[in-house]
Amino acid sequence: MNIKKAEKIVKDLGRLVGPEKVIIDKDILKEDLVNYIGYVKNEVYKKLYLDPMPICVVKPDNEAEVSKVLSYLNENRINCVPKTGRSGCTAGGVPGDDVTVIVDGSGMNKIIKFDDENMQVTVQCGTPIEYLENFCNKKGYTTGHFPQSLPLAHIGGLIATRSIGQFSTLYGGIEDLVVGLKVVMPDGRKIRIKNVPRRAAGPDIRQLFIGSEGALAFITEATLKIFKFDVKNRWMNAYAVKDMDTGLKILQEIMTNGYKPAVARLHDDVEAKGDPHNKAVGYSRFVRPGESILLFIVDGPEDITSVTGKAIDKFAKKAGARDVGKKPLELWLIHRNDSNKTLLDNEELRNDCVRDTIEVAANWTEIGQIYKNVCKRIADENFPGLVRFSGHSSHSYINGTNIYFMFAFKAEKDPKETRDKYFRFIGMIFEEVLSLGGTIAHHHGIGKHRVPWIKDEHGSAYILLKMIKDVMDPNKIMNKGTLFVE
Ligand SMILES: Cc1cc2nc3c(=O)[nH]c(=O)nc-3n(C[C@H](O)[C@H](O)[C@H](O)COP(=O)(O)OP(=O)(O)OC[C@H]3O[C@@H](n4cnc5c(N)ncnc54)[C@H](O)[C@@H]3O)c2cc1C
Repeated sequence: MNIKKAEKIVKDLGRLVGPEKVIIDKDILKEDLVNYIGYVKNEVYKKLYLDPMPICVVKPDNEAEVSKVLSYLNENRINCVPKTGRSGCTAGGVPGDDVTVIVDGSGMNKIIKFDDENMQVTVQCGTPIEYLENFCNKKGYTTGHFPQSLPLAHIGGLIATRSIGQFSTLYGGIEDLVVGLKVVMPDGRKIRIKNVPRRAAGPDIRQLFIGSEGALAFITEATLKIFKFDVKNRWMNAYAVKDMDTGLKILQEIMTNGYKPAVARLHDDVEAKGDPHNKAVGYSRFVRPGESILLFIVDGPEDITSVTGKAIDKFAKKAGARDVGKKPLELWLIHRNDSNKTLLDNEELRNDCVRDTIEVAANWTEIGQIYKNVCKRIADENFPGLVRFSGHSSHSYINGTNIYFMFAFKAEKDPKETRDKYFRFIGMIFEEVLSLGGTIAHHHGIGKHRVPWIKDEHGSAYILLKMIKDVMDPNKIMNKGTLFVE
């Protein structure tokens, strides 16, 4: 990138929003070269991301400033990468082009209106979800949105990635929680989608932005549902099952018979033996070698939780599951988000490993086979340097469930080789999933890492995505290389 051109961009942006909001400090810019911000300190991850440095990070304070910045970037055809919490997992937040400006909405972090008459709260995009959840809890409410990245993620990113929380089987994903939105289009136009409980006035335009990954517009504000929160009626229990097939069958019975636990998780034997993300939970104390573990939590009014709990117990025992009590859940509730801290001080990272996760989903008919085919493929390929591979289901629906694969492999000395190895590895998973009609992204989005598979993911419907991009971002300035094939 021509230095003079970069200096002019920095100066122009400073004139628009104030020079103090335009950051050029190299150490801060380096943080934008990795996915999840924590990895910036890790040598392996520095090698995995080979993007050029952004020119600067701009930190607007309000919608008007976002509008000024975007219209400037649009007029000058400069790549714009929106950011908030920096916990994204699929490289949606890395530059992707050598002429890139990061637009960081994390300073826009106000709770604008708490409205318990209509059970909704309006917040700016940079509001941390943990802060909002604590704010709602103090008033006796919950957002119902508990991603494992609760201590990191912000509302803008959570909406842009189409995120999901650990209690989703009751509350739904973010798409079920967003009531209305404010966004700024690439040309600076400000758009408001009003707050109503439902409407039949054309397609649901909120969905254009939920999952748009910063590649269509900048989300500045959102109104989200809230729920009454009371855990005194909570029912929870865990069961050991002989294998994943048995566990999946139990989940299917529960969901297709209309029960709605808040949490329904099934960890395979590898994770039950010792999930490195949740070492402190120690499921191995509760299961025998080779067994998988099922975990359930039911929340809500007493009459609902007791009936749902009884039904879960009946379905589990009918399928031969062994009751292992509440303790695994008590531990899970304490340690479920530990990985936000342990991610950085981890044996695998210290041993030069790349560790990541791939979350996929499919209908009940295919999901068990997908899990088996992926495990077989990974074993058959004898992938060099693989140190860990496992899977769990954590979000179930009436028609199917997800599988969240976790893996770690030894990095190569040459960064390019490590990167190629990473794409070879995730490619094996995606091939197996797509061949049985599943989706390659249940909740982390496509980002830049999964773009090579986006056409296969959507098939004949991809043209619609392309048309949306062409119309909403005709100059293609929004988050180059993310979600859409150029
Ligand atoms: C330890 C850990 C656990 C995780 N657990 C979960 C989980 O349980 N569930 C889950 O869904 N995800 C999870 N994630 C992934 C991540 O937290 C989510 O993708 C989250 O939604 C990202 O939010 P963020 O604010 O950090 O976004 P960022 O990382 O800042 O950005 C992510 C993407 O959103 C876009 N974006 C950000 N802000 C805006 C905006 N204002 N307007 C338009 N586009 C924007 C960016 O361009 C980028 O493409 C986890 C990540 C980590 C590191």
